[in-house]
Amino acid sequence: MDHRLPATPKLAREFSELFVNRRAYTIQSVRPHTDSGRHYYYRPKSKDGGRSTGLSLETVRQHLAGELTIGIYAINPATQRCKWMAIDADYKTALEDLIKVQRQLRDDGIEAALEKSRRGGHLWIFFEHPVLARDARIYIYHVAGKLDVQVKGAGLSDGIEIFPKQDELRPDEFGNAIRAPLGIHRGAREGRGWRYWYYGADYALADQLAYLRRLPKVKEQHLQLMIAGKTIPPEFDQRGRRAEVPRYFESKPGEFRILDYVEVRRQVGRNWVTRCPSCASLGHDKSGDNLAVSVEEPRKYCCWAGCTREMIRAALGRPIAARRLA
Ligand SMILES: [Zn+2]
Repeated sequence: MDHRLPATPKLAREFSELFVNRRAYTIQSVRPHTDSGRHYYYRPKSKDGGRSTGLSLETVRQHLAGELTIGIYAINPATQRCKWMAIDADYKTALEDLIKVQRQLRDDGIEAALEKSRRGGHLWIFFEHPVLARDARIYIYHVAGKLDVQVKGAGLSDGIEIFPKQDELRPDEFGNAIRAPLGIHRGAREGRGWRYWYYGADYALADQLAYLRRLPKVKEQHLQLMIAGKTIPPEFDQRGRRAEVPRYFESKPGEFRILDYVEVRRQVGRNWVTRCPSCASLGHDKSGDNLAVSVEEPRKYCCWAGCTREMIRAALGRPIAARRLA
């Protein structure tokens, strides 16, 4: 099925003004991974395989047109600020929770735009000028607490996820990317892909962007008023723990755990990324981001350059044992 639509540079510019906080971005792979069937996100590199390329207006246009799908970051590390915040929910009662939050925001004088997703949706809040990620997060933690809406993390597997996911970033950090709206979710509908829209406008690019531009933007002063005297709940406090740390898993004795062998510092989308040991043994992957390890399921890992599990295990000195014949 062809989901492509015409998109103009003007629409791309409008989109960028609303959504782009920094030039780093991710791309969702068009083809699913052969083992997991998932459409992973990766950070695109320049032609010579070196530095990552920055998000251009043309790439945004291609995203809107449906030619590719990008993920965008919430925080600009130079300022620790964000133009928007998004609440992601994808569990059974996700939509109910998002509508509850949206209603509470309206009571607080804040209009939020609800975008449909594969399961549940994303609720987006836009700021008049970028606000501190920490302040935006404090506000939503407070709203969630008031409404008894669970926030993912702190031992809970279900719940809303708040983007930005970090209070602040180091200059070399990216935080977590979220699939940019108005494009195609490659993994939806059994991999056939689907374009999801905001509920608030007709399902056409120009109408959707016009709706988002019309949406009243939250003033920093207003946000400050909402969070006066409030802090991040202690169980979610990130002081001294800026980025998420890998979730380890219970293993059977002798079971191979990739996270015991590689050090992960950066998260891209739903994966940890680091240098692929097999690529490294050949002197490749100098930028150190070919290996992706699933955050949710750390047993799953893959190399973008195509190294097999056998190659990676061999490079780590833990070759996969050939099954003995009875
Ligand atoms: Zn590799």
